[in-house]
Amino acid sequence: MASQFTREWTGINTFAPATQTKLLELLGKLKQENVNSLTILVMGKGGVGKSSTVNSIIGERVVSISPFQSEGPRPVMVSRSRAGFTLNIIDTPGLIEGGYINDMALDIIKRFLLNKTIDVLVYVDRLDAYRVDNLDKLIVKAITDSFGKAIWNKAIVALTHAQFSPPDGLSYDEFFSKRSEALMKIVRMGARIKKDAFQAVGVPVVLIENSGRCNKNDSDEKVLPNGIAWIPHLVQTITEIALNKNESVHVDKKLIEGPNPNQRGKLWIPLIFALQYFFVMKPIEGLIQKDIENETKPAWELRDALSRRRNRY
Ligand code: GDP
Ligand code: MG
Repeated sequence: MASQFTREWTGINTFAPATQTKLLELLGKLKQENVNSLTILVMGKGGVGKSSTVNSIIGERVVSISPFQSEGPRPVMVSRSRAGFTLNIIDTPGLIEGGYINDMALDIIKRFLLNKTIDVLVYVDRLDAYRVDNLDKLIVKAITDSFGKAIWNKAIVALTHAQFSPPDGLSYDEFFSKRSEALMKIVRMGARIKKDAFQAVGVPVVLIENSGRCNKNDSDEKVLPNGIAWIPHLVQTITEIALNKNESVHVDKKLIEGPNPNQRGKLWIPLIFALQYFFVMKPIEGLIQKDIENETKPAWELRDALSRRRNRY
């Protein structure tokens, strides 16, 4: 996917030296495992900070951000290479419009992804929100219906606006864990994955602060209230997901145009009906017929039959 014209990932140089060192170490780890390129797909509702996150990772203002949800209708792929490694990040427009999934936007995204391989899905939402609702579930469902349940083996949930003071005396960690729990539940329900199976997948939740006013530690790295330098932590989590035992999701024509990957079971329905007819309905019909034949006739019926016979002779 990377062409020889891919631009150099110079944005790394804008990070604090400690962050740069960690990132280059992670790229080295990926290359050691023969992973020379990664494609990250960023999805989520409008205005949650998807584009800002892309800019933060690349270290340049590569995609436009807007507080007013006037996102372009098309996805954008940004590619940068560094030390023989290529990073592709795909920013997408928000999927919700007027309380519903914007099917056209979803279709454009799917077509954009045709013949690409998604190594990591970054599902973005905000940390500083208190509720999850049906829209969240609809987005997760739309992603699952588009790319299959397997996409969640390759997913990270990223929460922006992480430089935040929780209300009601809750500690930062408590709030984070409550918010993660609520979101995870909605992801599991939207993806229709059984509880045990979902726990086994273990989708990581990471925190992000895209604001220029993000606090810094002694090494000048951007840190969150929990003391974590979030850029290296995010890239480390991306690396772990990329290297986990599950396969990346290749988007081919069959996946985007074929039957919904989660409803392939529906193809069995006619066969199941046929089997039911021959192995359940037919035998039952036979039994009923036999039953009718063996039935002891009521007295009036015998009398009528007898009188009919008498009349015949
Ligand atoms: P998108 O619609 O999901 O791509 O969201 P944008 O990246 O365009 O961001 C929407 C608005 O939220 C912009 O005004 C951003 O400056 C702001 N924003 C995004 N991420 C953060 C964050 O982590 N912290 C703060 N304080 N603002 C953010
Ligand atoms: Mg955007």
